[in-house]
Amino acid sequence: MQKRSKTIKRICRRTTKQIMNISLKKNKKRIVSFPHMGNSYIPIKSLFESMGAKVLLPPYNNKEALSLGVRYSIETICLPYKMNLGNYIQALERGANTLVMYGAPGSCRLGHYATMAEATLKNLGYDFEMVIFNIYKGKLFEILKKFSYAADLNANILEVAYGFRLSISKFLNLDRIEKKLFYYRPREVQRGSAEAIYNQGVREIEKAKNIPEVHAAVNATYEKYSRIKIDPNRNIIRISITGEFFIVLDPFSNLEIERELGYLGVEVQREIMLADWISVKLVPPWLHKCECHTKRAMKVSSPYMTRIVGGDCVESIGDAVLASRTDVDGVIHLGPFNCTPETVSQCILPYISKNENVPVISLMVDEMTGRAGFLTRIEAFVDLVRRQVHKKLPVYNTF
Ligand code: SF4
Repeated sequence: MQKRSKTIKRICRRTTKQIMNISLKKNKKRIVSFPHMGNSYIPIKSLFESMGAKVLLPPYNNKEALSLGVRYSIETICLPYKMNLGNYIQALERGANTLVMYGAPGSCRLGHYATMAEATLKNLGYDFEMVIFNIYKGKLFEILKKFSYAADLNANILEVAYGFRLSISKFLNLDRIEKKLFYYRPREVQRGSAEAIYNQGVREIEKAKNIPEVHAAVNATYEKYSRIKIDPNRNIIRISITGEFFIVLDPFSNLEIERELGYLGVEVQREIMLADWISVKLVPPWLHKCECHTKRAMKVSSPYMTRIVGGDCVESIGDAVLASRTDVDGVIHLGPFNCTPETVSQCILPYISKNENVPVISLMVDEMTGRAGFLTRIEAFVDLVRRQVHKKLPVYNTF
């Protein structure tokens, strides 16, 4: 019986490799690494591990990664590239030899990130292989093919399929517990209690080895949230956060704006979530069960722009318009300094603010952004929104 199951596993493994058309380097054990962006490392690491890969992550985004990235990048490149490059250097210094990065065609610099980083790192003398996957080209198949190659596929097709489901489950459930955090943080009596529960939930989801363990972690987190003491009389306003994907999702890069807003009594509302992006990029449109974020944004942004200009421009415009039509009181637009698509949205947003009567502020960040100045602008904006909500004043230009 045992012999038979071993044979089946061997056949499955061979089939997977044939399907993926992979030629493996037998003499080199790969150590895989990839850059950070918020919590995205949790499901991605999980998928790699299900393929039998040895994963070595760089430290979570920090000042050292930023200064390494800045040192070896051209000055005017956008902040996400600098962070990624810093992550790669930290990972290579710690022993990684295979770097994974997505490439994408389009109208902004993202399409060049991987090749630029590869050339820079090779010039610095690092010995590694860069595995680039184009998410628009083969969608799911491209991901599985390139990930399997980078991982030196060491699992059968059933294990890979389960690993993929587990990874999607982690993506979805990380979003769920984060949305609850947005609700509890501005209302909690004891500052930091919701965040402590959230952080523990994230750690549990990260550790989960299977889908039931993910669900158990989420249920335990919900149960702990429900025990948080909240102040029902607090004057809460709702602010929507939109902008460039990386900056919105990476707390280090956006100077932890969501936490600061929560402590100012703001319930954050965010359309850009990890799982939404994954479903748009990986799943063919005809398989979408409900309208995705990008489609929704394109529909409502049509009076202000008629075509996609790359990056997350259309999402930023659409989110601001959507915010004005729901119970959101203001919009914070975030982007990296010098980001071409977000510069376009920055120019359109004042018209939306005026036409749709919604306060909007645009904040562009880079390595020179000072925390104190950034927070002062946020506090001033929150005060303004709060005044407008109470006095029901019309919005003129909030920029
Ligand atoms: S969207 Fe902006 S920040 Fe992102 S890669 Fe393109 S230019 Fe850079």
